[in-house]
Formats: sequence, C-alpha cells, structure tokens
Amino acid sequence: MEIGVLALQGAFAEHEKMLDKLSVNHFEIRSKKDLDRHFDGLILPGGESTVMKRLLLDLEMLAPIRDRIASGLPVFGTCAGLILLAKEVEQDGHCFATMDISVKRNAYGRQLGSFNTEEICGDLGRVPMTFIRAPYITEVYGKAETLAIVDGRIVAARQGKQLVTAFHPELTEDTGLHRYFLDSI
Ligand code: GLN
Repeated sequence: MEIGVLALQGAFAEHEKMLDKLSVNHFEIRSKKDLDRHFDGLILPGGESTVMKRLLLDLEMLAPIRDRIASGLPVFGTCAGLILLAKEVEQDGHCFATMDISVKRNAYGRQLGSFNTEEICGDLGRVPMTFIRAPYITEVYGKAETLAIVDGRIVAARQGKQLVTAFHPELTEDTGLHRYFLDSI
C-alpha cells in the first residue's frame, strides 16, 4: 500500500511520522506530476486551508485531486484537510467539496482554539484529540455520518472512503484513526 500525503503546506511531516510508525509506504505530493505516481489513499493535513486552496489552484492540482476523490480515492483530512473536503465552508468558498458536511473555520475563537480532550470516536472508543485553531462541523447530511461529538459539536465524520477530523490525531501517540483509515482502503 502506498499513501500520498499532500505536502504543500502545514503539518504533513507529522502524518508521515505516523505512517512510518505503522510501517506504511508514503510519499509527498507537492506538484501536479506527483499525481502521476500510484497511490491508494491520500492524506490532507492540518495547516491553513485558504493557503492550501490557493496553492492547489495555482499548481493546477485542485481539479485532478477532486476528481479522484469523487471517483472513490480514500482520503483522510485533518483540521484544514477537513475544511478542504466540505461542501460548505462558512464565510469562505469550498475547495474539493466532496463531502456532505458544512463547516465553520476557526470555530472556537482565538483563545479557545487550541485544547486537548478525549472522546469516543466511532467504533474506536475513546481517542485523544488535539485541537488547534480548529473548525467544527455545523451540519452532517446526505451520505455523511457523524463519528465524534465534543461538547455538542461534531468533530469527526465519514462518507464512503472519506474520513475527516477537526482535531489532529497525528499530533498524539494514538495511531487508531490512521489505522482506521488504512483499514478502509
Ligand atoms: N484554522 C485553520 C484553517 O482554517 C485550520 C487549523 C489547523 O489545520 N490546525 O485552515
């Protein structure tokens, strides 16, 4: 199995470390030509979604990646990665728009934007969750389903082969969500 990690900006190296820990092959996707290489799944890291979207457009990578996701490429988006996959982004345009979720960026405000907690996530039981200037999901509809709720707010969801978390599992020691993603491939 080979995983592509979008490495235009943000916390991609932490995902790569997680994949190393799980002994999974991976490579960085930095330009359009990297998309020619075979990969079985894609990770969209945390970072700044507006910057990533700008770079995806400038590098002509947005449409080809969106088409692959729409055709069933398994994808795991964390934080900014979640924002990139949402069909509606409050006060901002959407990017790939492949998931039936609406999101609010920087939804916890500046002070409360970064915190750690632990909550149940799907069938994984309790997982540690690190939030950094996090979004949350304001609505899950259509084919998407909720996986985790923290303080009444939806923070993880899936839809077919698409998995998203508002938090950063790659910044914890817990490999559960990465294994969950890899198992789905
Ligand atoms: N606030 C960032 C955004 O809107 C997301 C933060 C993160 O990925 N840690 O893109």
